[in-house]
Amino acid sequence: MNWKRPGYLSDSASTVVYLPQQKTADGDIYSSETIFVPTDPSLTKTYKLPPSSTNKQKDVLASLVNLVKIAQKLILIGKRKMKVNKKGPGDFVTNIDKGIELLFRDWIYLNFPHSKIIGEEGQKSKISEKDLVWYIDPIDGTTNYIENKHEVTIHICAIKNGVPWISVVGIPNENATLGVSGQYIFSDSPSHMISSDKLMICPDNVVGTEFRESSLVEKISHDKIMDEFNCQHIKFNSIGFSILEMMRGNIQFFYKNNVKLWDIMAPLCLLRESGLFSIELTIPELDLTICPFSNDASFYKHLNDVHKKDCKVGLIIVTPKNMHNCSKKIKQIILDSSI
Ligand SMILES: [Mg+2]
Repeated sequence: MNWKRPGYLSDSASTVVYLPQQKTADGDIYSSETIFVPTDPSLTKTYKLPPSSTNKQKDVLASLVNLVKIAQKLILIGKRKMKVNKKGPGDFVTNIDKGIELLFRDWIYLNFPHSKIIGEEGQKSKISEKDLVWYIDPIDGTTNYIENKHEVTIHICAIKNGVPWISVVGIPNENATLGVSGQYIFSDSPSHMISSDKLMICPDNVVGTEFRESSLVEKISHDKIMDEFNCQHIKFNSIGFSILEMMRGNIQFFYKNNVKLWDIMAPLCLLRESGLFSIELTIPELDLTICPFSNDASFYKHLNDVHKKDCKVGLIIVTPKNMHNCSKKIKQIILDSSI
């Protein structure tokens, strides 16, 4: 990675300006854009870095929680000032999404300059199974954010040697942040349970999904799953929020075909912590079903291939461990519908 720090300029109008750098060996991230991120100057004073070159997961977790808390405030302040651009049909980005991703990239550059980044709004690094790989979704649920709905989350996590190394997820509209790194857990949410002794799996057949109603194939497979399990569905238009609802006992199982990893990796790292859920990623092209944290070399090759195209990685299914058969049935229904 060859990312350079953006400049920080605060003025009397309470605005911080992130100035993108010129061309780097790794390519431009925002070469021709100047991004204005509205904030309060006092927030930048609270931008704490962990002690330099530390590997102490406790310190890094505290620093990243602090950073996500700043991003949460930016999201709340930005509601009144955001600028919206269209990326594609039904797909939007705001200057707040971009500004938060820059803030996260800056923090990573300062602390882990040799790591790799897959961020929704910026460049996707070429990765290998030996790398520390970061996944960033600055705002999961951007359309909800634009429409001032509640279900919005912030994701940042890193995977190393096939296991989560750190993950922090923010819920700005609940002023809540959840994080794990090694043996350390942070949570100031009274309703989301991370550890197995407190987490209650949803007792009812409620499926969370984010299928596109505009896609006939996705609609057909969704209806079949509803019939098969005689269940209700909840669709929040934020994958992160749906996964967190499993930790609140409101969703029993979750699936999403054609998932993009920044949408799901950070909340999955938190959900994995309880040990109560089975998490499977199926890649039909490779005839492969694996854990999404895997450092299998063929999986990394697949990720590098899809990140050059549409970033759609495969089918993710999350179920309580004692409902593993349910995972097989969902997989069969979706793969059969796709033919
Ligand atoms: Mg997003």
